[in-house]
Amino acid sequence: MAFDIDMIKKVYANMSERVDAARDLVGKPLTLSEKILYSHLWEGKATKAFTRGKDYVDFAPDRIACQDATAQMALLQFMQAGKDKVAVPTTVHCDHLIQAKDGAVADLKNANDVSSEVFDFLESVSNKYGIGFWKPGAGIIHQVVLENYAFPGGMMIGTDSHTVNAGGLGMVAIGVGGADAVDVMAGMAWELKFPKLIGVRLTGKLSGWTAPKDVILKVAEILTAKGGTGAIVEYFGPGATAMSCTGKGTICNMGAEIGATTSTFGYDESMERYLRATDRADVADAANKVKEYLTADAEVYANPEQYFDQVIDINLSELGPLLNGPFTPDLSTTVGKDMTDKATKNEWPLQVEWGLIGSCTNSSYEDLSRASSIAQQAIDKGLKMKAELGINPGSELVRFTTERDGILGIFEKLDAKIFTNACGPCIGQWARYSDPKNAPKNSIVHSFNRNFAKRADGNPNTHAFVASPEVTAAIAIAGRLDFNPMTDTLINEDGQEVKFDEPTGWELPPKGFEVQDNGYLAPVEDGSKVEVKVAEDSERLELLTPFEPIKDSDMQGMKLLIKAFGKCTTDHISMAGPWLRFRGHLDNISNNCLIGAVNAFGKKTNFVKNQLTGEYGGVPDTQREYKKAGIYTVVVGDHNYGEGSSREHAAMEPRHLGVAAVIVKSFARIHETNLKKQGMLGLTFANEADYDLIQEDDTFNFVDIADFAPDKPLTVEIVHADGSKDTIKVNHTYNAAQIAWYREGSALNLIKKENAA
Ligand code: SF4
Repeated sequence: MAFDIDMIKKVYANMSERVDAARDLVGKPLTLSEKILYSHLWEGKATKAFTRGKDYVDFAPDRIACQDATAQMALLQFMQAGKDKVAVPTTVHCDHLIQAKDGAVADLKNANDVSSEVFDFLESVSNKYGIGFWKPGAGIIHQVVLENYAFPGGMMIGTDSHTVNAGGLGMVAIGVGGADAVDVMAGMAWELKFPKLIGVRLTGKLSGWTAPKDVILKVAEILTAKGGTGAIVEYFGPGATAMSCTGKGTICNMGAEIGATTSTFGYDESMERYLRATDRADVADAANKVKEYLTADAEVYANPEQYFDQVIDINLSELGPLLNGPFTPDLSTTVGKDMTDKATKNEWPLQVEWGLIGSCTNSSYEDLSRASSIAQQAIDKGLKMKAELGINPGSELVRFTTERDGILGIFEKLDAKIFTNACGPCIGQWARYSDPKNAPKNSIVHSFNRNFAKRADGNPNTHAFVASPEVTAAIAIAGRLDFNPMTDTLINEDGQEVKFDEPTGWELPPKGFEVQDNGYLAPVEDGSKVEVKVAEDSERLELLTPFEPIKDSDMQGMKLLIKAFGKCTTDHISMAGPWLRFRGHLDNISNNCLIGAVNAFGKKTNFVKNQLTGEYGGVPDTQREYKKAGIYTVVVGDHNYGEGSSREHAAMEPRHLGVAAVIVKSFARIHETNLKKQGMLGLTFANEADYDLIQEDDTFNFVDIADFAPDKPLTVEIVHADGSKDTIKVNHTYNAAQIAWYREGSALNLIKKENAA
């Protein structure tokens, strides 16, 4: 079974009671976002109104989705929880580990050769623990989720930042780190700061060359890359209801590019049409019965300024096609003359080398059909492609249907490369160059979401611009960044001047969706006999060994590993790039532990003193020496330590190597929580200036660790090389449950113990 209708009906059955109770508590009409949040409280019915942007709240998500890169460590951790099955419906999608090079068939074969051990592991662990598995080539996680699992009014989390795509079907869907997903899989609550709310009122109607993509490109321009931080963006108004469901998905998808917690739309007929077209009439029927709970109260959209923290107005009738970039998704330029001026001034190459259509953002049937209408015109009007064109269908359902309907054939007539139904160039899985670092300056246009330097092809000189699929197709045909398909003409092979007509397409396939093998493998009912496949000599995968609790006696005589200077993000603690390969092998990936952090002594990276030998060396090597000697260590850091992504490796690696405590001026909260979950200490200086007391040869004694308790600072004695001592106070935010994680060695150890009891 692809989706769980009983689970959805249960959510809807609770909704009225929970939403009505929340409305009474809040004392005013509710937005859609609030309705979904309040109906998914871990405690059930709300007992208090939460303060937006302030209160941390426990939620009970309905679903989890994981992609192949992040699922590896998440599932290795889940295996530690001692559970037979995941506690909520979960799926794994193999989409990130497939490189685009020669076209779908060859590329998929190559990926299966190169990453078979990872795919085999994910398939077997999914089968064992009741997780739905989508094979390599089945599609991109968020397109597959929209087609199969998303439902109006639901809440889901996913181990990928574009999980937010499911807002197109009226969900609150949020990207999280693997550790959060593991908690929910293991039956625990999921904590989130109650978000602020931004309302976007869409008036007017999209027409001509303007697409849903242009709406989010405009919102990105208005709000900038950080403007949505800590907020849910809720779209409403006549422009919203007139838009397709997959178009709504595009807008929600790129909410990640403005930093939003997520984005969503109220349930409407476009969603009903999409649900029915994707074989989920029963979900549409169930949603229709609770319609009023799947959108905001009428008063909210009538007077949004009273109910949202911020309201943005966009008139779709006045919106034109945009190109955002290069190097950031919030730098908007109107297609045509504005681009000529800006590109000339900034020396952006005007010639376009590639147009790429696809990614989870824009790979629906509607996207491909509208882009193909432009490609068909190029054929009919005798135009030759000036740039290369690549297509990544979002799923096998879309690929099969668009092939059946002749849409892919149109692109192929223009010599386009049809890549695998996977992320491909969107995540740098694109064999464009043999030596990307030294590749030439150039421009590309794509319908993806992110366009940071090196993101698509590893070339820092590639200027990537984001546009709608139809504009991407037109610009790729014209080969010029400043081509305006609405006004400009092109010269065809017969020397005639020709002009594009407006794109046309179908919201949904007129003959319905069709697929032969959608690539889904359902788990067996009883997974107890299923063996999880991990080769003993694998360098990419390693089963985890539970962390030993850190004894109070270990907290004496600890050595300083590194005093990080300035910014220390999760990237500095656990680098990405080539290290992604080892995401499923804790010991191997630990060789990148803190190698990007600047040591306050000497201001170098990956160069610290080994107090046992007096010699200097890399951080992981030095730490391994301490571990061998049975000595735990301390990491000291500056402000906002651990900011960046929520990757749990940044906490697991130090823990694995034998760091017992991280003392900083302040933490990025998610990283602090991740440290707690791994059973180590995340502490802050009670007096920030004490950071300056820490010297290179320091030894630490946690003198009152035996009394570790909520709301009680700890005392640390710092012994310097000359024998002098400083005694400082360090604060912590551990509650009783989190102290129990620490005492057991990790949150998962505790779950396992409770499970066995
Ligand atoms: Fe992430 Fe791109 Fe894949 Fe979407 S297509 S999930 S943005 S890598």
